[in-house]
Parts: sequence; C-alpha cells; structure tokens
Amino acid sequence: LDQARVEQAIVIRDLSMGTPAFDRLTLTRELGAAIANGEMFLQYQPKVHVRRQEISSAEALVRWQHPTRGLVLPGDFIPLAEEIGEIGPLTLWTLDKVIEDQRTLAADGHDLTIFINISGQLLADTSFVAEACAKVCDNAARIGFEITETSVIRDPQSAIANLQTFADVGITIAIDDYGAGLSSLAYLKQLPARELKIDKMFVLQLTSSNRDPLIVRSTIDLAHALEMEVTAEGVETQAAMALLTVMGCDMVQGYLISRPISIDAFRQFLRDDKLRPEEYSAPSMFKR
Ligand code: C2E
Ligand code: MG
Ligand code: MG
Ligand code: MG
Repeated sequence: LDQARVEQAIVIRDLSMGTPAFDRLTLTRELGAAIANGEMFLQYQPKVHVRRQEISSAEALVRWQHPTRGLVLPGDFIPLAEEIGEIGPLTLWTLDKVIEDQRTLAADGHDLTIFINISGQLLADTSFVAEACAKVCDNAARIGFEITETSVIRDPQSAIANLQTFADVGITIAIDDYGAGLSSLAYLKQLPARELKIDKMFVLQLTSSNRDPLIVRSTIDLAHALEMEVTAEGVETQAAMALLTVMGCDMVQGYLISRPISIDAFRQFLRDDKLRPEEYSAPSMFKR
C-alpha cells in the first residue's frame, strides 16, 4: 500500500460510524445533553443476605438510552462523564432518582438501603460532598455509597475525610471491586466502610479455580476481622453460592439472583418474592 491509500483508508474509517475516535467525540458531545433530555435511567440489582435469606439492599446502576445507538452501558460513558465534568451532575441526578424510587418502594412496604456508585473524582469535590449530603439528609440511613480503593489512593487525605463526612451523616460506605485495583491495607483500615464487596473477577470462576477460593476466603476473614460485612459480586451459579455460604460470606449479588432490572421489574421481583430459600441455600452437606 502506498502512503496516499493508507491515508485515504484512515479518512474513510474516521468518517464511518463505529470507529473509536469518532464515537468518543460524538458520544462526549451528546452526553452533555443526555441528562436534560431524559435519556438516563437506572436499573436496580438486589443483594441477598445469605443467613437471613432476604433481600437486604440493592445497587442502582445507571444506563443511557441513546436515541440512535440504543442502550449504552456505564463502562462506555462514565469515563467520558468524568473527563468533561458531568459526573457530578449525573451522580446528583442518580441520587434524586434513587430517593424518588425509594418513596415508591416504601409505599409498596419495602424499606431497602440503595447503594449508588461514586467516582473517585467526586471524593475530592467539596461542592459535590455538600450537595450530596444536603440531598440525602433525611434518607441517609437508607443510602449507601460504593467507592473503590483505587479512587481513595489518588488523594487519600481528602477522600478519607469526605468519606468520614458521608459516614457521619449516616450514609453506609461500601468498598467496591475489592482486590481488582490498587489495594492498600493501610487505607483499608482507615476507611469508615461497613461493607466490602469482593470483585467479581474472584467470584466468577470460584468453583473452577484453585486460587480464587483461597483469596475469597481470606478476604472474607480479613473483612470480618475489620468488622465489615462482605458481599460477593458476580454470583452466577448455585455452586458458587454454596461455597460462599460455607465460607461465611454475608451477602451475595449476581445473575443467579437477578440481573440489574428496571424499577418496575424490581418492584415485581419484590412482590413475587422470587427468593425461594431452598433455591439459594447451600446443599445440606455444606451447611455450617
Ligand atoms: P460495579 O459497581 O462493580 O457494578 C457491577 C457490574 O457487574 C455491573 O455492570 C453489573 O451489571 C455487573 N454484574 C452484576 N452481577 C453480575 C454477574 O453475576 N456476572 C457478571 N458477569 N456481571 C455482573 P454495569 O452495570 O455495566 O456497571 C459497570 C460499572 O459502571 C459499575 O461496576 C460501576 O463501577 C460503574 N457505574 C455504574 N453506574 C454508575 C454510576 O451511577 N456512577 C458511577 N460513578 N459509576 C457507575
Ligand atoms: Mg458498584
Ligand atoms: Mg462492583
Ligand atoms: Mg465491578
């Protein structure tokens, strides 16, 4: 290929839909208006308390219903939102929506804590911290924030101070994706977290790998020693569920119980009481 043909090929690729560079630019431009256009919505994924055999809480996950692209998942737009300074407004929108949906759930007779994911960038943003605390005020006991350790490591002092502020107003702090990013036991012991979520990378192959069960079990023991409750994310099989039960894992979340679903599907899920204990409990040979 001569140089001219290579350049022409590049131009054609750039102008066609579907090239990463083109997508990124267009998506970024469109993202700014997406909240105002009502294109964002939430899905909820329940968490089950293993010993109590009940739904203990749920996580809100944001989705973008794009007018032409269809459903865009957070992995494709959260980094962009962080880059263009839209993550604060998006997270405050999420918080409002969660509080609104909690009123609907309360009217149905369900009193559930709902967790939202908080980007590390916001842990250093004093105006976000103030606005979030103001929004949560009366509902703090029913709101949880999921944060990753990696996001704390960027600016530990202000992150830990702001997490303490959230904890002081009564928000439950959970450490998300534990073990997948940069972990530091020095920070772990300083975080005002009540819950630790083991990353799904250790859970998805739990019963078909040699090392994952050892990592998961020692993480559960570590968290318990630090007086935190443990959630395993990415629980997809009965076998994983059984093993986690034996290991003393407190809560589980994953496709075995439910995928992330709309608020209406979640209300139906709670109404149907789809949690049939016999389906999710460990086989008797595993029982503690
Ligand atoms: P995360 O908070 O760790 O959420 C768990 C992700 O794993 C979700 O993907 C969920 O759909 C998926 N998942 C749940 N159970 C299973 C399972 O059993 N198997 C498998 N293979 N996957 C499972 P999702 O919804 O695409 O979210 C990806 C990430 O995007 C989240 O990871 C979170 O870090 C981020 N995110 C989502 N919503 C928000 C938000 O409102 N704000 C911020 N800052 N980040 C968000
Ligand atoms: Mg999360
Ligand atoms: Mg997670
Ligand atoms: Mg994750």
